[in-house]
Amino acid sequence: MSADLDAEALQPPNLEALIQFLYQAPTGLLQIRPDGSVTMMNPRSAQLLMPLARQGNLDNLFEVLAEVAPDLRAMVAAAAEPGALVCEGLRMPVLPPTRSRRVLGLSLLRLDAHTIMGCVNDVTHEVELEQQRLASRMRDASRTDSLTQMPNRAAVLERIQQALARSEGEAPPHFAVLFINFDRFNRVNLTLGQEGGDRLLRMVAERLNSTVRQRDAVGSPHESLHTTARLGGDEFVLLLDGMRDSEDVHSVAQRLIDTLSRPYLINGVEVHVSASIGVVAGVHTASLANTVLQDASLAMQEAKRAGGGRHVLFNPSIKDRATRLGVMEHELRRALEQKELFVVYQPIVELPDGRVAGFEALVRWQHPERGVVSPIEFIEIAEECGLIGALGEFVLHSACRQHMAWQRQFGPGMPRMISVNLSRAQLNDADIARQVERVLRTTRMPATSLQLEVTESMAAQGDDIRTRLLELKALSIALALDDFGTGYSSLACLGQLPIDVVKIDRSFVADAETNLHKRVLIEATVRVARSLGMSTTAEGVETDGQATLLTTLGCDKGQGYLWSRPMTARDATQWLAAQSEASRPVEAVPAAVR
Ligand code: C2E
Ligand code: CA
Ligand code: CA
Repeated sequence: MSADLDAEALQPPNLEALIQFLYQAPTGLLQIRPDGSVTMMNPRSAQLLMPLARQGNLDNLFEVLAEVAPDLRAMVAAAAEPGALVCEGLRMPVLPPTRSRRVLGLSLLRLDAHTIMGCVNDVTHEVELEQQRLASRMRDASRTDSLTQMPNRAAVLERIQQALARSEGEAPPHFAVLFINFDRFNRVNLTLGQEGGDRLLRMVAERLNSTVRQRDAVGSPHESLHTTARLGGDEFVLLLDGMRDSEDVHSVAQRLIDTLSRPYLINGVEVHVSASIGVVAGVHTASLANTVLQDASLAMQEAKRAGGGRHVLFNPSIKDRATRLGVMEHELRRALEQKELFVVYQPIVELPDGRVAGFEALVRWQHPERGVVSPIEFIEIAEECGLIGALGEFVLHSACRQHMAWQRQFGPGMPRMISVNLSRAQLNDADIARQVERVLRTTRMPATSLQLEVTESMAAQGDDIRTRLLELKALSIALALDDFGTGYSSLACLGQLPIDVVKIDRSFVADAETNLHKRVLIEATVRVARSLGMSTTAEGVETDGQATLLTTLGCDKGQGYLWSRPMTARDATQWLAAQSEASRPVEAVPAAVR
């Protein structure tokens, strides 16, 4: 650039040019006095401010803006120094009668004691953009899980819906939904505290994300369509979208289970958790995102039911089962509330004389439509839906109360004991010994008169269960091993279990007369039990022949239809009355309640 041109460029613009600029500038420019009176205003200013002017009067800016900027007069007065900024980009909403809402921005600068210069702009578009940005930020926040920064339920549902739309017409669709939940996570929360639990969840999220990133690294170069999300609590979802045909969702699920169950280091402690995964993939994919997620959750619950640490692929029979369970659960809740449950009692007698030793309490359900329902149909459901605690307590309470009523009526030791079944879920409850103790206290039942029956598979389980059994024993309660011979533990393990009575399963008793093998097993059981200081009770004794054989084999007690079917409390009372009167071996009594 030449020196001449430079000099020319630095020349001040002439007045004519300035006036042209004022007239044509796409910006509103104005000049006022400190009292608001307008001394100069270009056409753009007039155009912008006119909708605010009363009767088209633009003489005084303060009056024009009285409603949208009521503090303007005070602001001008406060900015008295030359060069002081009165306001910058002050937002003023304008509601012109005919057009949509607009927003004006006003900036004013004090030049000297008498002059204030300003500019006014239409900032509607800017404000709209800002609002959109804010809305989208809020939308993102409402679709993000705050703990893990993962997409949340709303977001993943939307993506599942998109995947469904994309794979319309494909059979099977090219995506899979994995519903992930940790096994016994509340125990983790109890030991680590809320904060530790949160840290664990963040680490889980990180592992999930990195698993997906690894898959992408070996997968297609396209942008990943996979989504990891947290639904809340310890529930996570992995959406594998755009799956290749060759891809095996089973191996993905298994790899995920392996990755997630590696120990986590939290506050210097190694934490072990296992995950259960429900998978929706292939032909049984529903058409609504919500249903897909529900189905995946049902499959996950199925995985948990099977012991956890595994994955289950959804199929319609899982849903049917869940529906049936749901109906049963609902009815069972009602049964507990409306006292449709009751307890029947089956005598346990001494061998060989048949004198009553005690009763086993067995629960029944008086269903309004179906009549009396067997516990085989509802105990498992009660366990699954968390009703077993209340049910168990009801049976225990009824049995203890009944036992004490008999003691009052027939004198002490008539009968000597009452036996109550404990289910697996009850033994999983750390509080079970205290619950039992409470029932004993409220019914004034001596602990030594109570026997609790647990099954082999339960008793052989981990340390927690063992601790609970020992706590119960410490209360002086007798423990019986139910259904012996059907479970896992062998005669060799019998000595390791803290039990007092072995109940020989009725499948052994039924064939004992004809099957030498069963007979030998009964004999061996009796011998081993006796050598360990335990006694034996044979279940399901139906014939005199069986009773005689069991006596010969050395069994201490018997229970079965030969002596009596389970009876209602009232029938059992009559039965006991006949016993105490006769005080001799009894004949079989006809069935009362099946
Ligand atoms: P279990 O503890 O083995 O109970 C004995 C079952 O054998 C009872 O069935 C009883 O009616 C039946 N039984 C008794 N004598 C004979 C016989 O001579 N022949 C034949 N064929 N059967 C006989 P029930 O009452 O239907 O109970 C089934 C199972 O349900 C029980 O098996 C027990 O595991 C469970 N159960 C029953 N009541 C309760 C309860 O209150 N709590 C828990 N947790 N489980 C219970
Ligand atoms: Ca039993
Ligand atoms: Ca049994």
